[in-house]
Amino acid sequence: MTEEILPNLYRIEVPLPRNPLQAINSYVIKDGNRSLVIDTGMNREECLSVLSSGLKELGVDLKKTDFFITHVHSDHMGLVPSLATDTSIVYFNRPEASSSNKPGSSWQRNDEFAAKHGFPEDERKKAIENHPGRKYSPQGHIDFHILQEGDTIRIGDYLFSCIETPGHTRGHMCLYESRKKLLVSGDHILIDITPNISLTSDDENPLNDYLNSLDKVYNFDIKLVLPGHRRLFKNHRERITELKQHHQERADEVLSILEAGKKNAFQVASLMTWDMTYKSWEQFPPQQKWFAFGEAEAHLKYLEGKGEVERLTGEQEVIFSLKN
Ligand SMILES: [Zn+2]
Repeated sequence: MTEEILPNLYRIEVPLPRNPLQAINSYVIKDGNRSLVIDTGMNREECLSVLSSGLKELGVDLKKTDFFITHVHSDHMGLVPSLATDTSIVYFNRPEASSSNKPGSSWQRNDEFAAKHGFPEDERKKAIENHPGRKYSPQGHIDFHILQEGDTIRIGDYLFSCIETPGHTRGHMCLYESRKKLLVSGDHILIDITPNISLTSDDENPLNDYLNSLDKVYNFDIKLVLPGHRRLFKNHRERITELKQHHQERADEVLSILEAGKKNAFQVASLMTWDMTYKSWEQFPPQQKWFAFGEAEAHLKYLEGKGEVERLTGEQEVIFSLKN
C-alpha cells in the first residue's frame, strides 16, 4: 500500500508475515533528481516484492536513490543490499555500522549471556536459530555513510537533522524536520505497541538510555510522528508520558517479583505479565521467551543502576535480589 502523506513524501507499508509487528513503514521522499528511502523491510521475498512494486509505482529510479536506516534491526535494514546501486548513499549510525557488516558475530556472546542468566539451553538454541535478526538480516557488505547528531540530509523541500536516540538499539537515530515539524521516529516512539527494550549483554543499560532519549525528544516541536511501525500520530508528548509510565510500572512489577525472593532473570521474565495470545509462560514459543527475557534483563539492569536491585554473580549463574 502506497500513500502520500505530504507533498513528495510517501509511506509504503511493507508486510512482515508471521511476525507480531505485522508490517514496517518505509518512507520515500522524492525530488526532481534523487529519492531517499527511509527503512526497507526484512531480507525476504515477501518484503522485497511489495517494496519494489511500491517504489515502481512512485516512479523511483534506484540508480538515483539514497537510503537512511534508523537502526540495525533486520526489519529496517534487511533489503538495503538488494535495493542499493553503485550510486546510492546509505546513511547509518556509527555504533551499529561495524556489527551489521559482521553478521553472526554477536550470537555466541548473546548465548553465553542468556545461559548465565538462567535461559534453558534447548529453548535458547531454538530462539537464536529462529531469531529474525539471524534469518532476515542483509547479506553482503554495505558501505555506509556515517551520520551523527546534528548532521543533515537535504532532499527536495525537506531538511532532516539526525537525532541520536539510543535505547531501542545502541545506535538508534531519528530524523527531525524542524520547519515542517516532522519526526521520523523509527522504533523510538510507536503508538499502539511499545518499542522493545532489551538487554543482551552485561555492559549496557538500554532502558536508562531509552528513558533519556524519550526526555530528549519530548521538548521538540512536532506536529506529526512518522513511526517505523503502525499508524502515524500527532501528540508525541502524551505518548512519551505513556511510555515512561509503562516502564515505571514494569520496573515496579520486577521489584514486587523480587520481594518474594531472589531469582535469575529468566525466572523474573516468567513471572512478569505479558500481553500475548498464549495462556501461560510455558506455552510461549522460545522466540517470544527470548524477547521477554531481554525486556526483564533491561528492567533489572535499570533497577540495579538505580541501586534498588543487586546481583549475586556466581561462576555459572547470575541471581538478582532486592537491595536493602
Ligand atoms: Zn527495531
